[in-house]
Amino acid sequence: MLDYKKALKQCIKCGACMSVCPVYQATRMETDVARGKLAVLQEVASGKLGLTSSVSEILSRCLSCGACAEICANNVQSDILIQYGRQQDFLKHKPALSQSLLKTVTPENLSRNVMIQGGALLEKLLCKQIPESRGLHMRFPLSCFTQRSIIPQISMTSFLKDCQPEEKRAAGDIRVGFFVGCGTNYLFPETGRALLDILKEVGIAPFIPEEQGCCGLMAYTSGDRKRAVALAKRTIDLFFDQGLDYIITACASCFAQLKAFPKIFETEPERRQAERFSEKVMDVTSFLIDVVGYDKLGSTRQQVPKDSPIRVVYHDPCHLRIKQKVMEAPRRFLRIIPGIELVDLPAHCCGHGGTFNLSNFSLSMQILDRRMSEIEELQPDKIVTGCIGCLMQFQEGIQRIKTKKRIEVLHPLVLWKQQYL
Ligand code: SF4
Ligand code: SF4
Repeated sequence: MLDYKKALKQCIKCGACMSVCPVYQATRMETDVARGKLAVLQEVASGKLGLTSSVSEILSRCLSCGACAEICANNVQSDILIQYGRQQDFLKHKPALSQSLLKTVTPENLSRNVMIQGGALLEKLLCKQIPESRGLHMRFPLSCFTQRSIIPQISMTSFLKDCQPEEKRAAGDIRVGFFVGCGTNYLFPETGRALLDILKEVGIAPFIPEEQGCCGLMAYTSGDRKRAVALAKRTIDLFFDQGLDYIITACASCFAQLKAFPKIFETEPERRQAERFSEKVMDVTSFLIDVVGYDKLGSTRQQVPKDSPIRVVYHDPCHLRIKQKVMEAPRRFLRIIPGIELVDLPAHCCGHGGTFNLSNFSLSMQILDRRMSEIEELQPDKIVTGCIGCLMQFQEGIQRIKTKKRIEVLHPLVLWKQQYL
């Protein structure tokens, strides 16, 4: 607590974080920028202000993107301090949204597929009642879904269930573990399939434990540290003693959370183990480019014939760009895909932010609309991004713009697969 108070006081209120905070840029409210949030947390820490529902609301209006901490010349770890505030808030209030969503995200439930298959059935029933030809399609009478125009389709067969036993055993000179993540497993299983195809081409079969579950990011950013720790322990246990050289993931949010594991443990031995684990974690395109050298090998596959190149914009997920600085590898990967023209897009947040999108939907859409107008100007055929949260956000985004052109949203690995026979 003493260190926490000291860390809060490190903020000299210079306001540099105002220039990078996507939430503040949308609202211009002092309580939405790190400086304002830290001032509120200082009042709470000193006992002058209680952890009221207004404070909970202020804390929830943060995308956990880390841009404020990156720009801060005084090295204030604002995102982590805001996160700590959320943990205190969670212990006091146990927010209804987090509780209802997260109590189902236990390692046991995920491995039994209970929640996900129930959700898939519910979604199927609801979809049946709303024809796709109507403007109302995909609008569901569920409180956190009512304002959406699209709900991501949950695959009835998850990636992990669909994997054949011989595809899950590590083989090849480089020993690689594949952390699949909930989004790839249930919403975008084609991403995992595309990855297996590329790895097969370069003679690598990854280790894919079927019992793996959630990375814990959603629990962590909701302030539920206990659940995040349990999920992290499970992941580390599954991958740790397998003699792996690398652990890769195709989702930027999972990647950021796996990298952050050392920060969420309290004891020194656990932290050290988490450090050894997270040192091996790589984003999939960095692995393919920097380790495998895929851009130098060239694919032996036959290309899909195309008359003119497809215009593609690449959106940098905040979880790859800001703290991990992974910007070059995804672009190098995209440049080797035949038949595409990669168009430059400035790096800005899409407004998803995991639980932020659920608890602050309108604000999330405000940030998304700004991002979509930047994209619309470039007239792309496809938006590609390596984060499951951003993919879902852009699926919503393309429904919100009134363009006649059909824009597709997809993962770089899936685009790779589309361009080859
Ligand atoms: S958090 Fe850092 S950048 Fe923001 S006001 Fe405080 S000292 Fe300045
Ligand atoms: S983490 Fe991102 S959204 Fe949250 S205060 Fe910092 S810059 Fe703003």
